Amino acid sequence: MSQPYRLETLVIHAGQEPDPATGAIMTPIYQTSTYVQSSPGVHKGYDYSRSDNPTRKALEDCIAGIEAGNYGLAFGSGLAAIDCVLRLFKPGDHIIVGNDVYGGTYRLFERVLAKFGLKFTWVDLTDLAAVQAALTPETRLIWLETPTNPLLSLADMRAIAENKAGNILIAVDNTFASPALQQPLTFGADIVMHSSTKYLGGHSDAVGGLLAMKDEALFKELKFLQNAVGAVPGPMDCFLVLRGIKTLTLRMERHCYNALEIARFLEDHGAVRKVLYPGLESHPQHELAQRQMKGYGGMISFIMESPQAAQRMVSRTKLFALAESLGGVESLIEHPYSMTHASTATSPIAVPDALVRLSVGIEHVDDLMADLQQALS
Ligand SMILES: *Cc1c(COP(=O)(O)O)cnc(C)c1O
Repeated sequence: MSQPYRLETLVIHAGQEPDPATGAIMTPIYQTSTYVQSSPGVHKGYDYSRSDNPTRKALEDCIAGIEAGNYGLAFGSGLAAIDCVLRLFKPGDHIIVGNDVYGGTYRLFERVLAKFGLKFTWVDLTDLAAVQAALTPETRLIWLETPTNPLLSLADMRAIAENKAGNILIAVDNTFASPALQQPLTFGADIVMHSSTKYLGGHSDAVGGLLAMKDEALFKELKFLQNAVGAVPGPMDCFLVLRGIKTLTLRMERHCYNALEIARFLEDHGAVRKVLYPGLESHPQHELAQRQMKGYGGMISFIMESPQAAQRMVSRTKLFALAESLGGVESLIEHPYSMTHASTATSPIAVPDALVRLSVGIEHVDDLMADLQQALS
């Protein structure tokens, strides 16, 4: 786009022009696998939908626009997007990862990719000295998640990007914050990754993953891998994510408002031992959150007195649905130890067993608080 539009405008327009053939305002769902050629190799820019599809292209340009990047790539899931990034590397290469990441990321790295000779070191990303100490001559990537799933701790993106050597890539899983709250490429990250299943899609109706980056050479390598490996999304799912993104900034405002109210309510509740939410003054990195984020997001975790109390609580809510996933308009509650993070349960990065995680939706906050109140009583 010619003008530097603001994010509220970009979420609606980035990558999306009225359809040149028909004038359709909404990006059509190009439900096609192939494209006619006038003579061998002569076509209108599309030859096969694993390589390129116009609906997917609109989504890829959209994520580039809203993440302050130049290029975007879409995948069939968030994990497929992460897997594509890791295929940049070769046996012996070393990767530094936060010790509090999404359980599926841990499983992909340690149980799948480690077999191919990639070496992972799990560090506390809130400790900059620990990140420095983990660097080796073979380090090629630092994989950040901020805020983390599910413990809501933050990594100082600018400080980590400034302190590493030039040949080390920084990738940020921005699923929890979304570009409405932080744009990692503006803090020095090389790649930003999303599970678009969550806040970008926003309506719990499609699974997908996205990458965005500034550098053309890096984009070309990843684009080659996207086509060579083939974990691409279908056009219908791309359409749904594009539609979801249109209300991202609006939704995030309400997610943030509701979550802060609920975090304060939980912090004052006698049955709750500890609340983890970057917007609370009690959060150990509240000051970094104020510097790095435009809002504190819709995710809250809290620790109950016992695993039994946590399990009881998550089974008693009526409005908060007991379910995995997050980032939709509806509120969800879960027990990470036995649900989303079960794949880490016996690992060094296991989550506390009395932890409860909320994905606070955009319903009326009083209804949400009343539901939590009755579930805790
Ligand atoms: C859900 C999630 C993923 C994985 O995305 P899928 O779309 O489920 O494959 C990765 N990172 C974070 C932080 C997530 O919440």
